[in-house]
Amino acid sequence: MPSLQSKLPNIGTTIFSEMSALACQYGALNLSQGFPDYPIDSRLSDLVERYLQAGKNQYAPMIGVAELRSRIQEKYRVVHDLTIDVEQEITVTAGASEAIFTAIATLIRPGDEVVIFEPAYDCYAPTVALFGGKVIPVRLMAPEFSIDWNYVQSLVTSKTRLIIVNNPNNPACRVFSEADVNDLAQLVDRSNAFVLSDEVYEHLIYDGIRPNTLLSHPLLRERTLVVGSFGKLLHATGWKVGYCLAAAELMTEFRKIHQFNVFSVHTPTQYAIADYLSDDTYYEDLAKFFQRKRDFLLAGLADSRFEVLVPQGTYFVVLNYRAISDLPEKEFARKLTIKHKVATIPLAAFYHDGFNQHCIRVCFAKQQETLIQAIAMLNMV
Ligand code: PMP
Ligand code: GLN
Repeated sequence: MPSLQSKLPNIGTTIFSEMSALACQYGALNLSQGFPDYPIDSRLSDLVERYLQAGKNQYAPMIGVAELRSRIQEKYRVVHDLTIDVEQEITVTAGASEAIFTAIATLIRPGDEVVIFEPAYDCYAPTVALFGGKVIPVRLMAPEFSIDWNYVQSLVTSKTRLIIVNNPNNPACRVFSEADVNDLAQLVDRSNAFVLSDEVYEHLIYDGIRPNTLLSHPLLRERTLVVGSFGKLLHATGWKVGYCLAAAELMTEFRKIHQFNVFSVHTPTQYAIADYLSDDTYYEDLAKFFQRKRDFLLAGLADSRFEVLVPQGTYFVVLNYRAISDLPEKEFARKLTIKHKVATIPLAAFYHDGFNQHCIRVCFAKQQETLIQAIAMLNMV
């Protein structure tokens, strides 16, 4: 029997699966894993049905159905005034997750260093490790989660191959300022690094903040891979359809790996999405839809014992529970689930060293009844 040597010896089940399972076990309201608890638009499911019936059931092109790539191109033109080449610079992927995996696989060799800002979404660091890269974490702290770019600059060496950013950030719920983008661009310009910009929450932004992509910055245009997700855009996290955008030379290498990983993505869904997103006002309406949910939750928690960190983006909100308990975050989140019947995510799960700051993350992509219930339950804690 050969010995099985784990490539990821320290990795277990994700915190999202763990907390969702705990919510189920104890019959708790599940505000942990990020997903909507309401149905998708029936017009969208009808379109999938229509394309299924129309026989769009064989392999899609490796780079994605042309109609969907054109739709993505159109969005970047209308929203960002950017010209993206529909043949060479867009690839439809199996969710943002596959795009992130493929981007890291494209760039990282053993010994390469990758700067990651924490709190960080869970898939970045393990994927870097899988390809022999070394993660250089940058700790950002509540409540501002602001970035000291001089400090980041001090971490950049000749080995720095990639800087991963997530904007708007899950779970910090912060959006890059113009100064952040400029500082990042200057820093990257002086280095050998590429940028992976996870922009899955691009349109989930509040209080008049405008959508922003790193591709808009001239110094970042040629060396940034942008990742998007239709799971967030269409309230359909289970569909796992996303995309990657990058300059042609980078994208050629990206596609070599995408080709032998998934080859292509679910065909009828791609046609349906292309058809459904024909109206450009969709994106602004999406921000308004989630702003109403965010504001309802914030108002409902104003007199609770939690300190609410007002989110600029994403469909999450961070709550500080310092006034309630001294327990470490994971223990507090477990107790909240088991005793108070509300499941959340401890922020510590997004730091490699389990850094604790008495914060939990709550998902507000929920129907009104769920939010009402959540408010009532959290106010009793
Ligand atoms: N990046 C971030 C920051 C996310 O929150 C998520 C999903 N919640 C993903 C990537 C993965 O997106 P997808 O489900 O499209 O793979
Ligand atoms: N992105 C989702 C979240 O942040 C979780 C996705 C998953 O379960 N892997 O909650």
